[in-house]
Amino acid sequence: MSTDPSLDKSFALLRETIDAVYHGVRDLPVTPTVTVPALRALVAQRIDLRHAHPLPALMQTVIDLLREHSLHITHPRYFGLFNPSVHPSGVMADALVALFNPQVAGWSHAPAANEMERLVLRHIVKSLGLEPDVTAAHFTSGGNEANHTAVIACLAWRYPEWGTSGVRACPRPPVIYLSEESHHSFIKVARATGLGTNALRHIPVDAQFRMIPARLAEQVGHDRAAGLEPLMVVATAGTTGTGAIDPLPRIAEIAERESLWLHVDAAWGGAAALSPALRPHLRGIERADSVTIDAHKWLSVPLGAGIAICRHHEAMHRAFGVDTGYVPPTEAGAEDLYKTSLQWSRRFMGLKLLFTFAELGAEGIAQQLEHQARMASRLREMLGNAGWEVSNETPFPLVCFTHSSLAADEVSTRQLVESVLKRGRAWVSPVRLPDSRWVVRACITSWRTNQDDLAILVDEMEFARRSVMV
Ligand SMILES: *Cc1c(COP(=O)(O)O)cnc(C)c1O
Repeated sequence: MSTDPSLDKSFALLRETIDAVYHGVRDLPVTPTVTVPALRALVAQRIDLRHAHPLPALMQTVIDLLREHSLHITHPRYFGLFNPSVHPSGVMADALVALFNPQVAGWSHAPAANEMERLVLRHIVKSLGLEPDVTAAHFTSGGNEANHTAVIACLAWRYPEWGTSGVRACPRPPVIYLSEESHHSFIKVARATGLGTNALRHIPVDAQFRMIPARLAEQVGHDRAAGLEPLMVVATAGTTGTGAIDPLPRIAEIAERESLWLHVDAAWGGAAALSPALRPHLRGIERADSVTIDAHKWLSVPLGAGIAICRHHEAMHRAFGVDTGYVPPTEAGAEDLYKTSLQWSRRFMGLKLLFTFAELGAEGIAQQLEHQARMASRLREMLGNAGWEVSNETPFPLVCFTHSSLAADEVSTRQLVESVLKRGRAWVSPVRLPDSRWVVRACITSWRTNQDDLAILVDEMEFARRSVMV
């Protein structure tokens, strides 16, 4: 206990709120109903920055705003965009990180934090079948930064002059191959690296939305003949739209034959490496030059935890190495992350994942991942029994579906989804498939989703379908 009653009151409120949200989120509406002008006015009115506010009252205001006006992604019926429910340990981890505020950029400033992150990262690298002693890995803000990191590392590896001459170091225009269903972060990466989006080749997908390897090989041939330089292929292991896994072994073969850097974007699906039952679906990932995994997706830690992995340690040094006269020298046997990654000042992002791994143990993690996969299988069955048609096939927990009584077009699918969201009992989203059909997308993003939640979702879908049909 401190001698500051206001601080004591704030701590009590924090404790109470963690408890109330963790145990009570299921009873909140999933979706907020507020409008932009109304909320903007409310925030300005409640938080007047001209005055000092006592901390307990300010906290209560913020808690009320967040509770009333958030889309609750930690709700077990948020069947959403890969954003997870979190464990209380993840909340505690983030609080401890803020408290000690370790500067992880240099080993000498944060020895304990650096070594704990290293432990977690080596665990992930091993589970992917990569060799931890030669593989570089670090935390990133998310998948976007991890993909960006991979492309920079690849460029620095391929072109010795990249660091000094930029794109002028490339004798021929480089080309990056990825599927039509790959993540749009590569659009930003192409712009940010100076390659431009014309450097991207979106390879067609098969009926299950996976990259067609023959089309990849064909496109590489065309580009080479046209005087371009095939540089990298991105295989997605768990696409954002439908959870498709590109055929990694066949893509790896083509990459090897054509001397392409193989990047596997496993932002969401990479978590499967931690389940013996699901890991076989990632076969081939061990042949990657670089891999992206987001711990803030299927590994269920609070946002802000991507992971960039690269088997060529030297590429990371070439890409990001710098020497300063103001940072203390690197400790013997250690590595300073500001020299091997895009970030400089760096938050201790790995603690929340360490907590999850250590709290649940390897078996507990596997069970959690497999529970979500099982809930998705159950949802497919339940939807089928209720007359819905499942439109995708994936071992990962993402279900796309529609109904024969609905036109699978944009307007009616959006209408259907809107009518689900309006009632606030579940969150799903519309998605366009590569064949231009629009269907409903439901991802089991929460490890807390149970069969009752699935039953409510199916009821809500049925209710919405009837209401849009009349
Ligand atoms: C989410 C996602 C990304 C982007 O990751 P962020 O953490 O949102 O930056 C990249 N690729 C895939 C396949 C994703 O699912």
